[in-house]
Amino acid sequence: LDLTAEENEIDEQEKSKASITHNIIFVSSEAAPYSKTGGLADVCGSLPIALASRGHRVMVITPRYLNGVSDKNFVNATDLMVRIKVSCFGGEHEISFFHEYREGVDWVFVDHPAYHRPGNPYGDSSGAFGDNQFRFTILSYAACEAPLVLPLGGYTYGEKSLFVINDWHTSLVSVLLAAKYRPHGVYKDARSVLVIHNLAHQGVEPAITFSNLALPTEWYSALEWIFPTWARKHALDRGEAVNFLKSAIVTCDRIVTVSQGYSWEITTSEGGNGLNELLSNRKYVLNGITNGIDVDEWNPTSDKHIPFHYSIDDLSGKTQCKAALQTELGLPVRPDTPLIGFIGRLDYQKGTDLICSALPELLQDDVQFVMLGSGDAKTESWMRWAESVYNEKFRGWVGFNVPVSHRITAGCDIFLMPSRFEPCGLNQMYSMRYGTVPVVSSTGGLKDTVENFNPYANDGSGQGTGWRFSPFCKEAMLAALRMAIQTYREHKTSWEGLMQRGMSKDYTWNSAAIQYEQVFNWAFTDPP
Ligand code: ADP
Repeated sequence: LDLTAEENEIDEQEKSKASITHNIIFVSSEAAPYSKTGGLADVCGSLPIALASRGHRVMVITPRYLNGVSDKNFVNATDLMVRIKVSCFGGEHEISFFHEYREGVDWVFVDHPAYHRPGNPYGDSSGAFGDNQFRFTILSYAACEAPLVLPLGGYTYGEKSLFVINDWHTSLVSVLLAAKYRPHGVYKDARSVLVIHNLAHQGVEPAITFSNLALPTEWYSALEWIFPTWARKHALDRGEAVNFLKSAIVTCDRIVTVSQGYSWEITTSEGGNGLNELLSNRKYVLNGITNGIDVDEWNPTSDKHIPFHYSIDDLSGKTQCKAALQTELGLPVRPDTPLIGFIGRLDYQKGTDLICSALPELLQDDVQFVMLGSGDAKTESWMRWAESVYNEKFRGWVGFNVPVSHRITAGCDIFLMPSRFEPCGLNQMYSMRYGTVPVVSSTGGLKDTVENFNPYANDGSGQGTGWRFSPFCKEAMLAALRMAIQTYREHKTSWEGLMQRGMSKDYTWNSAAIQYEQVFNWAFTDPP
């Protein structure tokens, strides 16, 4: 069927709009650009905008964190002058709401003194905040009230809303709907979709804290969690706890994880962190949808953080970005020396221990390595130590710095991501978009997004966008890195092919948004 140009355009417009639209409430502990510690913020900052542009009415509810450093992020949000009282933790807590309408989305910020303190959303330099269970319980209560009480743009979202709850912090929303609202005839037509960004954190607290949540006692079993014997602290410990994430897994209408690979892994005993059986029981409502990325923020042709711009047709700017990065880092400016980068939380998940153990061998070769990250104190001091020992070849930048992360992504040749497990992972996608070839462990979302290089495919013109190594060990990682380094040095055409294939992939949120829509429709038409 040949369509005219005009018909084609109409067809494209149809595809960019949803056929069924919903009132969608994202509830999240972080949302970029207002607050961010990781990929959760990126997803809750971008997916709502993609869904709004497809015709849905979308609200994002997140705390108004005032930490003295990033308060300016909230300057455009105005007080809606709506006050509610939340009863839990043995008292009444007054909550107010701030609001900003931006890019078609209602950004709603829950305000309470518990969100006003130095640090990131979860803690400060001395560790996690002791009252996080309280801070995220009141967020969940406020999120349930918001669609009923906030007259945004003149009218409320109402009861037929779809809640998208994210990780353990906001898991309680789905229990509150079931335990506190539906029995009173409210939210009968609402649905909840749990998005699991990371199963490693589940919001587990002593069982005694259940009474703080002000839930009907008959709902205790939804949160009930028994630690295995080996994890108990002493002989009298019966291992009884409450688990927020579990409560959403058993009460929500649908579950999404941020890649297909991860949606399977979490149903296995190796990857399920104790929740695999519950997740397997719900596998008929479990889907994996790979995250998109913010293609405006991460765009090598216009990125405001990088000194030179470039595109797939003219990569000269990338060479200049590399030289500028080497200069900035005080490394020798050597265009032909492969520059390898790592960006991420310094955490067991991210496999930084593999980097620590492999670095001496790796640096025997003529390569340079830059690492940006914060987290585990031991790894931070190791980075400082390694920089002093391998001063000509290694830089360890301790901290969370978005502009630097862009400059590393643009200036490196190879991006290393040796995660032990990875629900989706964003940095491998950013790097491919910037022509920086990823070397990743073969797990979760990394497996789904990085295609292994095969130089012989397509009549010798090659296939793939990077290297995936397995099993998870230093030797396999070094082998993959050495293949990448050799290809970079000796097979320029293959290297260009790798860069070009990575740069031309579609990373937009629109395709993920279409898949989310499908899940939302199922939540309404096919409730379990
Ligand atoms: P996770 O959510 O597990 O931390 P992701 O790869 O999904 O991992 O997302 C991490 C996000 O945080 C990316 O946007 C990454 O660039 C950013 N990030 C992580 N560490 C740093 C850092 N030290 N400085 C700047 N950005 C960082």
